[in-house]
Amino acid sequence: MNRITHWIDGKRTKPGKGPAGPVYNPATGKQASEVEFASVAVVDQAVASALKAFPAWRATSLSRRAEIMFKFRELLNARKADVAAHLTAEHGKVPSDALGELARGIENVEFACGAPNLLKGGFSEQAAGGVDVYSIRQPLGVVAGITPFNFPAMVPLWMLSNAIVCGNAFVLKPSEKDPSAAMLLAELLAEAGLPAGIFTVVNGDRTAVDRLIEHPDVMALSFVGSTPIAKSIYERGTAKGKRVQALGGAKNHMVVLPDADIGMAADAVVGAAYGSAGERCMAISVVAAVGKAADPLVAAVKERIAKLKVGPGSDPQSEMGPLITREHRDKVASYLESGPKEGATLVVDGRKDKASQNGGFFLGPSLLDHLKPTMAAYKDEIFGPILGIVRVDTYEEAVKLVNSNPFANGVAIFTRDGGAARRFQFDIQVGMVGINVPIPVPVSYYSFGGWKASLFGDLHMYGPDGIQFYTRAKVVTSRWPDPATSKVDLGFPQNR
Ligand code: NAD
Repeated sequence: MNRITHWIDGKRTKPGKGPAGPVYNPATGKQASEVEFASVAVVDQAVASALKAFPAWRATSLSRRAEIMFKFRELLNARKADVAAHLTAEHGKVPSDALGELARGIENVEFACGAPNLLKGGFSEQAAGGVDVYSIRQPLGVVAGITPFNFPAMVPLWMLSNAIVCGNAFVLKPSEKDPSAAMLLAELLAEAGLPAGIFTVVNGDRTAVDRLIEHPDVMALSFVGSTPIAKSIYERGTAKGKRVQALGGAKNHMVVLPDADIGMAADAVVGAAYGSAGERCMAISVVAAVGKAADPLVAAVKERIAKLKVGPGSDPQSEMGPLITREHRDKVASYLESGPKEGATLVVDGRKDKASQNGGFFLGPSLLDHLKPTMAAYKDEIFGPILGIVRVDTYEEAVKLVNSNPFANGVAIFTRDGGAARRFQFDIQVGMVGINVPIPVPVSYYSFGGWKASLFGDLHMYGPDGIQFYTRAKVVTSRWPDPATSKVDLGFPQNR
């Protein structure tokens, strides 16, 4: 059995004898390899290597750091088929989706290439007589990232690009369900010229995460995953005095107003609900269909679902792949039992899709109409290919529904009325808003983050907030000796 180890000190570690977990090919349901789970000692070794490498990296010129990012970008583009193949093999996403994920990750590397500009400080000449004041941003030291299974390349790239270019040493703990993409990123960073110790991968489970939270030399934690773990990591990390940004789960709504182009809304929601088998934190899982939009929208979605091809990524015809594990698939499918029991209408039952009959972790696209906010299929983050339709009478009711939800990651509105869209952007209490755009993941030069239970921390991820997160500010007040103006003055310094 192939054993995936760790990346410490610029190389893969030798296989150990400690605990390991299975890595499956979700399209076949068979175990493909095993991944080593880092012990406390392994995490300590990784952090020690990062800490040793940090001072020289911090002192490396901005242009050299940016040059390595440029080279990394070139290598990612040259090897994108290999990265995507890892995503398909271990996550199950179809190749077009895997390449899309990678492209959105590469955007963050491109953003990081501009770090010399982003790290410029302010300068005030003559703030007082002969005194200049200026601000600089400096790296934190060793910083860690803990990432989820659903974007095994993109979410690590959200974090590592800015962390590294800002001069930090970054330790990644990827998801134990699909760790190979992170190991390939490590190889490419080394090939790009990154010194050993500046990018580290510790594979593993809770033991590794707990040690990163506890470790006194880890200055900051970036987390992306489910809400209960995000909240716990935020609380424990900040209690240890660390800087923490912890992004959690989601329940993203699409509001469809009666004036919307129903065909366009249906195309958009089918892509946003079933792409990546619904395992996206920005997936649309609920439509709030307003008034007379509901009937034609449900009919249009049903018609499109019938044409979707579910299957393994190895089949070029496949548009939607499997879920990540058998347990997760079964949990998702359980909402197709509970929903109708609570009064929802099961319009399309994905358990009947023929892909669900093979050994992989497949579940076909499913549609639940007449969903109510009291039902489990509405309240829970399902994270699978089930779309729910909540029928509401008015725009106000739709906004109230969205604003009452504890999650607030993404939201979309479909309408042809510019005034309604503008009012929605003002009224809605959600971090990322799409106007006739179903998955409004911000481009890399903005920042990504939800509100409420979808994000714990003050700064969003990547973009300008990422640069802020991975650096701390210093302000220097300076005067150079000028004997002509020198005198003893015991008063409090004033700006004269
Ligand atoms: P998860 O919370 O189970 O795992 C995320 C990471 O935390 C993994 O590296 C995992 O090994 C680690 N982990 C798991 N249990 C832990 C514990 N008890 N203590 C410490 N660490 C632990 O999430 P997942 O299933 O990998 O990913 C899906 C979730 O991530 C969904 O809730 C999804 O909405 C969310 N997500 C959010 C965003 C966002 O930007 N807000 C992006 C992607 C995914």
